[in-house]
Amino acid sequence: MDIRRRHLIRLALLLPVAGWAVRGFAQADEKVIGLKSGYAARLKRLLASGTLPYIDIESSCNPTKVDIDAVARKLDELNIGLMALSADPTERQFGEGLRYDDLSARLLARYPDRFIPVGNGGQPPFTTEAADEVLAANGTAALKEPLLLLGEYEMRHYPSPRQVKRGELDRDVDIAIDGPTGHKLFALAERLGIPFQIHYEVEDRLLAPLEHMLAQYPAARVIWCHIAQVRYAERAATYTPAYVEGLIKRFPNLYFDTAFGDAGSVYPLSMQHHARVWDSSGGLRADWLNLFVTYPERFLSALDLGGDRMRQIDDYDRKHRDFLARLPREAQHQIAYGSAWSLLFGEVFS
Ligand SMILES: [Zn+2]
Repeated sequence: MDIRRRHLIRLALLLPVAGWAVRGFAQADEKVIGLKSGYAARLKRLLASGTLPYIDIESSCNPTKVDIDAVARKLDELNIGLMALSADPTERQFGEGLRYDDLSARLLARYPDRFIPVGNGGQPPFTTEAADEVLAANGTAALKEPLLLLGEYEMRHYPSPRQVKRGELDRDVDIAIDGPTGHKLFALAERLGIPFQIHYEVEDRLLAPLEHMLAQYPAARVIWCHIAQVRYAERAATYTPAYVEGLIKRFPNLYFDTAFGDAGSVYPLSMQHHARVWDSSGGLRADWLNLFVTYPERFLSALDLGGDRMRQIDDYDRKHRDFLARLPREAQHQIAYGSAWSLLFGEVFS
């Protein structure tokens, strides 16, 4: 079945959802078809060499500092299939009036078979002081370039471990997911027909608003980043593998990335092991493993590189592969690249 026909069928299935049609046609444009064929060739070449390529669906960088050639070399060296590397524009850029950084276009101009075009990450002050302009700018770019997904929007975000180390405690973001910015973000994703990512710390009080949004925007495909990353267990008593399974069953458009810390990683503000997938001996907990194996199509590989850790890609790659290696072969391949492929292109990788 050719790609245009696939998209038409996909469209027909989703047509009742207002606004989806526009982007559905754009997905089938020549540029996306060209990218897709380059991606497939690269993944197939890596698979044929006996390695496991994965699609890093969620990494970001400082667009004014990133060394594009160095990242591309690393992808080759580490047999990483593809990377959705989004720009986290800087405060300086914000001050200069920038509302969208065209890093994705620059990445594709150099390495179209390695990078997936993705919108900018959503962080303060962009999302707190100019959310409307920023969403509009990302929306315009999504149609023009085009983009295959939107970046990671920080709705609830505690200071990261590295920021704690540097004494930067001001990145404590709390934007209501069901507030005006949340509604505009979900509506934009529905209209464009491309997925977006959220950083949304797990707290009991935050779960109902997210569920409400997922129910209200069934055509917005959401990647909830960092599955099972709970920084304060006492704030998240109801979050369990059974709870996540319930979400998976109720919300077909909800996905999760698997960027989480290793078994020894401790969140410095709570001193808790925040990646809850691990048991006390460093293995995957049976209940989380069971969830990954039962619903592998809803989980995605991700490294979560950032502007302050681009040089640690070897380490992040090793840790992510250690997680993948603990899965049965079929789930391993599905999570490594199969799920991302289906999410981005609406078809099974073959
Ligand atoms: Zn995140």
